[in-house]
Amino acid sequence: LQTARATQSRRDPPSRRHSWHGLAIELLARTQPLVLCAGVWREGIPMHGIVVRKFGGTSVAGASRLARIASAAQRRQLSRRKAVVVASAMSGETNRLVNALKRTVHEPEPIAADAVVCTGEQVTIGLLSAALWERGVSNAALTGWQVPILTNGAHTRSLISSVRAKRIYTVLRVSAATMVAGFQGVNALGCSTTLGRGGSDTTAAALSSVLRSPCLIYTDVDGVCTGDPRLVPSARVILRISYEEMCELAGFGSRVVHDRSLTLQGRSAVGMSVLSSSSGTWNNEKLRTSVFFNLGRLMTMDRPQVTSVSYRRCRAYVYLRTSGGGDVILTLGALGGEKIELLSCLHSGARGVRAAMTSPAAAAPGLEGALCHLRCCTRLRRSQCDAASCDVSTVGLGIRYAQVACSIALPMLRRAHAIATSEIRLSLCLKERDLRCAVGRMHLACLHGDWGRGLADSGATWL
Ligand code: ADP
Ligand code: ASP
Ligand code: MG
Repeated sequence: LQTARATQSRRDPPSRRHSWHGLAIELLARTQPLVLCAGVWREGIPMHGIVVRKFGGTSVAGASRLARIASAAQRRQLSRRKAVVVASAMSGETNRLVNALKRTVHEPEPIAADAVVCTGEQVTIGLLSAALWERGVSNAALTGWQVPILTNGAHTRSLISSVRAKRIYTVLRVSAATMVAGFQGVNALGCSTTLGRGGSDTTAAALSSVLRSPCLIYTDVDGVCTGDPRLVPSARVILRISYEEMCELAGFGSRVVHDRSLTLQGRSAVGMSVLSSSSGTWNNEKLRTSVFFNLGRLMTMDRPQVTSVSYRRCRAYVYLRTSGGGDVILTLGALGGEKIELLSCLHSGARGVRAAMTSPAAAAPGLEGALCHLRCCTRLRRSQCDAASCDVSTVGLGIRYAQVACSIALPMLRRAHAIATSEIRLSLCLKERDLRCAVGRMHLACLHGDWGRGLADSGATWL
């Protein structure tokens, strides 16, 4: 009881100490089991009573899908769980806005581009809000600046610096749901900013970590699968995946969850699940992927295991050999910034430095120009830039061991430009034309190979 009182007086100014929720805390504090259940209270709402639900572009594309979400919210109203609903723009809408912008001006200023592309999400939350009201679910729709979600960094790829949740709590106190427009925020100047393509997941993760509430990502597949179901029809849903594996998958092309959303989720370590909006908004919410923070719980056996395959198209592969030190790599790195990734770098006394790098294909013309220039003025002996490349990655625990890595990569070894590994990832850089074949073969290793996780978990993890 003393702890509850102390927390309450620290949090609230003296004038509010005797408000109704202060009394409620005191009452709860007198009944120990209830205190344990109640968690921490804030603005009159128990934190465990909020859930953040994020709906992606396909899930909100069209009146019938919006109606389906609204009907599910209507049914859920009975469960007393308040919802923060984050919505993306309808599928294809952001591309339409980008194209409209490009038709209007040759090179749009990022600040103006953000003002245009953030409107797609605003339309969605408005429509969703109307659909909910029609079904008697009270709600309010907030854009990024209304919340506000504060951002910093460059326009079109801003980073969330903080979220002020007071307005969300205020709305939730008097209504069942708050709609929040995904993918956007506001900077110190008061201008709308966007978080980079696919950024609505990041909005949801930021809200979930600030509200300390679970985050459910509804999308157009049943969960995180062993491979992209669009490319690998035999892909299966992974019911439990470690946070680390999920980060590697998202960072290396699996767009099912935005990579930056995982960074935020990792900081707060609140639960995240990925599930289908078509079955999930109806009844079957059991079919989903849960992201686990406790890696040990997934290690059912002390053996390596292969979980999933991801890929990135449109990559450029750069190989170079210099007779001196590695300063050429530094120059190229400075040129491309964070876009250039180092795959491997070998130094041998006689031959100098040999390095392999990748970057998005769009950066290739710039890199080729820079390599030409460097060849004239530095000790760059040989360079190669292949703009029609891709990378395919397999993720799993203990994958870096040569025996495991080679058995997975062997079928594609001859066609690969380079191989790189991390603690839990093996990436092959290949020609774009080999992508489908590599994904298929590595996926086979994932399901049926010696290290396939299906064997380790004897079916428990798989659907
Ligand atoms: P949303 O619009 O809901 O944000 P996205 O298109 O961003 O949806 O992400 C979902 C898509 O991610 C799926 O349609 C699927 O093609 C792709 N995807 C890629 N890798 C995977 C994977 N390992 N598991 C599931 N989906 C994947
Ligand atoms: N609408 C944005 C996009 O298409 C953000 C998102 O969908 O998450 O990239
Ligand atoms: Mg997405």
